[in-house]
Amino acid sequence: MTTDSNLPGAAPDAIAFDCYRTLVSNDHSDWRKMFGQIIVEQELPFDQDGLWEKWRRYELQFRASRTVLEDPSQSPPFKTYERAWSECFAQVFEDAGVEGDAAAAGKRCVEHLARRPAFPDTVPALQALIGRVKVGVFSNADENSLRPLLKTIGIGFDAIASSESTRVYKPAPAAFNTILTMLGTEPERTWYVGDHLYDDVRGGNDVGLTTVWINRTRERVGPDDAAPAIEISDLRQLPQIIASIPR
Ligand SMILES: [Mg+2]
Repeated sequence: MTTDSNLPGAAPDAIAFDCYRTLVSNDHSDWRKMFGQIIVEQELPFDQDGLWEKWRRYELQFRASRTVLEDPSQSPPFKTYERAWSECFAQVFEDAGVEGDAAAAGKRCVEHLARRPAFPDTVPALQALIGRVKVGVFSNADENSLRPLLKTIGIGFDAIASSESTRVYKPAPAAFNTILTMLGTEPERTWYVGDHLYDDVRGGNDVGLTTVWINRTRERVGPDDAAPAIEISDLRQLPQIIASIPR
């Protein structure tokens, strides 16, 4: 939680947000249920949790290898989530000697992310910020997930960019620089709000943004974690913090 003594010196010109688990919920329990639907649709010989866990092992390998932060130019060629997730299903099916439609399953995941519910504080917080600061979103997501999802939130964002549109995943600096350019603001006048200490806080800190960690579940920062400038547990704290910064 931020206190008066560590408030940023100036109110921001713009605030950019992560999307999943920042503006909308994205629980693994929902993913497991969706995997259950894929099993039914494709008549696959897996149980829901078994398919999820096998697939997730490959998915975590993709996440761990997609960005070489020390030298982003050495990162492997960009892959959308739909392609990466389909490849994870293909691996699982191959391992088990199962005939399944990996492409259809990958597409199902992208569609699942287009239908996540906003947190109760999301819309009130965004409404309170719009008109006071520019508001943008950069999400590690495919366009077919992010665009329809943000339409359901019904907020007129000043800028929206995705990993797919930028061909790069956070925490690569290019992700943050893209949204800064689109918002037309400088890093020192921009806040980035996200739930993830590596992708969002580490990445945002690296390009000089004021990072805000939305910590809804009151997790603790570990010794090796990046330190956010501000910590909140509810997005409605953002307009309150801005109002408390002396002009
Ligand atoms: Mg997130």
